Amino acid sequence: MTELKVLISRAQIARRVVEMGAEITRDFAGQPVILVGVLKGSAIFLADLARHIALDATFDFIGVSSYGNRPSPTQELKSGWDSTGEVKLTKDVDQSMRDKNVIVVEDILDTGLTLTVLKKILLAHQPRSLKIAALLDKPSRRKLPLKGDYVGFTIPDEFVVGYGLDYAERYRNLADICIVPRE
Ligand code: 5GP
Repeated sequence: MTELKVLISRAQIARRVVEMGAEITRDFAGQPVILVGVLKGSAIFLADLARHIALDATFDFIGVSSYGNRPSPTQELKSGWDSTGEVKLTKDVDQSMRDKNVIVVEDILDTGLTLTVLKKILLAHQPRSLKIAALLDKPSRRKLPLKGDYVGFTIPDEFVVGYGLDYAERYRNLADICIVPRE
């Protein structure tokens, strides 16, 4: 593996997460919210964001995987991972979302396929409101017209790791968000 290059430093992340928490706190003033983390990439972001949301907040987690074969890590790095859009639920939420303010917490918005499916699944629970908080957004890769309601950073079409994001399950524990060079 070649050297990783820092794209967004831990200090930048920390500052932006504080701002995002303040935005959510303001938008939902006085109301309870459920933060639904998308496993596993959002775990670190959710943990930090939640501590900057000054509301009555509960957590839940949802798991998804794509049908079809995920490419090898090398292939994924080279051309991204364009799932077929058929997303399989591997873990559903544990609590009722009916009439609740639900905020889906995601690591990165890429093609938009995963969140489009997740939105559909969660809307079937009839929440009072449904918002998306994504730390990163790669709008140049979008295949479906999906927008995050709270977006940390817009980034170019690079494969990134760290702060929860993996490359073949590694690097999730890096404190900075780094680019994996495509060689
Ligand atoms: P989408 O369905 O929007 O194409 O894909 C979103 C998912 O693809 C993310 O939750 C993440 O798991 C994965 N993904 C997309 N881009 C990257 C990236 O640059 N780095 C990593 N580690 N995962 C990514």
